[in-house]
Amino acid sequence: MSDARRIRAYHEAGHALLAFHVGVQVYAIVVNAKAGDLQSQTRHVPESYAKASSRARALIALAGGIAEEIQFGERSPGCCTDDQEHFESLRTRLIAEASVGPASGDEIQADLEHEIRDLLRRPLRKALDILVNELIERPFTVGRRAFELLWAVPEVRPYIRVRPEAYEHGSK
Ligand SMILES: [Zn+2]
Repeated sequence: MSDARRIRAYHEAGHALLAFHVGVQVYAIVVNAKAGDLQSQTRHVPESYAKASSRARALIALAGGIAEEIQFGERSPGCCTDDQEHFESLRTRLIAEASVGPASGDEIQADLEHEIRDLLRRPLRKALDILVNELIERPFTVGRRAFELLWAVPEVRPYIRVRPEAYEHGSK
């Protein structure tokens, strides 16, 4: 197995876990090891993502790089350009929503990254590895499968806001 694939797997698993955590339903997770490939991605169920707050979206966007950091001690080169752009697009609304506490975009980013680090290092660490193993075996993993793997771990459940009912109907 290539290192690139492992790195991409951790990156996408980070995005997906934070999505489940904030209550955004994942449709599929794609891991493609080719350098600079744009195909690695975590796809959300659009109706579910549409309901997510700016803060929730920012947590999802920033989680890929943090997952890489936690596993490998650093981020892969260029890992997070798109994610950072995504965060920047949320910045204005995040600042407006932060009525108390940190006021600047950088402070908000640092704050959110701290929160993600705490989650992925402790309560969701096992979940991260479980999901990565799956993604390495199945480079195209449907959201339902990813959810079921995580939901099967009792200590992970309290940290997942997506409910099993979300996956009961249709192929999502
Ligand atoms: Zn990413």
